[in-house]
Formats: sequence, structure tokens, C-alpha cells
Amino acid sequence: MRHPSAVSSVSASGGISAESITELGTVRVRGLLVDEQTRCAHYHSELDVIALLFHCCEEWFPCHLCHEAITDHPSRPWPATARTTEAVVCGVCCSRLRIEDYLRVDACPTCDAEFNPGCRLHRSLYFD
Ligand SMILES: [Zn+2]
Ligand SMILES: [Zn+2]
Ligand SMILES: [Zn+2]
Repeated sequence: MRHPSAVSSVSASGGISAESITELGTVRVRGLLVDEQTRCAHYHSELDVIALLFHCCEEWFPCHLCHEAITDHPSRPWPATARTTEAVVCGVCCSRLRIEDYLRVDACPTCDAEFNPGCRLHRSLYFD
């Protein structure tokens, strides 16, 4: 009989040990060091509480840098015709927002959690 627990194996896929998954209801958010409100290794202030569904792979990530670190393809912004897609999730209350609603608000319409105004600077990475 072998003793199964003695060897700790390192995942060969991707090789990033900080990769983690946070589940918000039915949404699974993958990223680096993601906390329970979807802050990640890159954006982790009080206000960094949203995650985004990426158009290219239909997976949720806390930010574009997490997407870049975990996947092997460039991210593609949502086309302007996809404004009614629920592509944003609030990490505080787990409610999903349509893109058009997210682009209009500074805080979560459901729980009033403030969103990071700095995200506006990267909007073109996510939305056409
Ligand atoms: Zn992708
Ligand atoms: Zn990140
Ligand atoms: Zn909320």
C-alpha cells in the first residue's frame, strides 16, 4: 500500500500558484488571490468589488490582468450591441448587472456598494 498524502504535487497547467476561484451564487470567478468579494492581486481596494464576464471565453474574472494571467488568449471587449448582457457581478451582494446599467452607475443599484471610479479608465478593455 502506498501512502497517498506525502507528496504535494504542483499543478503543471499554467504554473500560477496564486490562482483561486471564488463562487458568488452561480457565478464562478477565477483570478489571482481572489477574495470573497472578488478583489484580486491587482485591484484590491475597498471599491474593487466587481467581476466581469469576458466575451472571449464566457468566463468570469475580477480584472483583465487576471484574465491575461490565467488564459492564453487576448481578451475581447463586448460589442456595443451587447449592452443588455449581464456581464458584471457585484462581489458584495452577488447581483448581476447589465452592461448598460453598470456603465450608468457609480455604486451597486442593489446594495449600494461603491464601485471604483478608476475602472472607467479601463472600460475600453471590456466594452466597445
Ligand atoms: Zn477570455
Ligand atoms: Zn486581477
Ligand atoms: Zn451589490
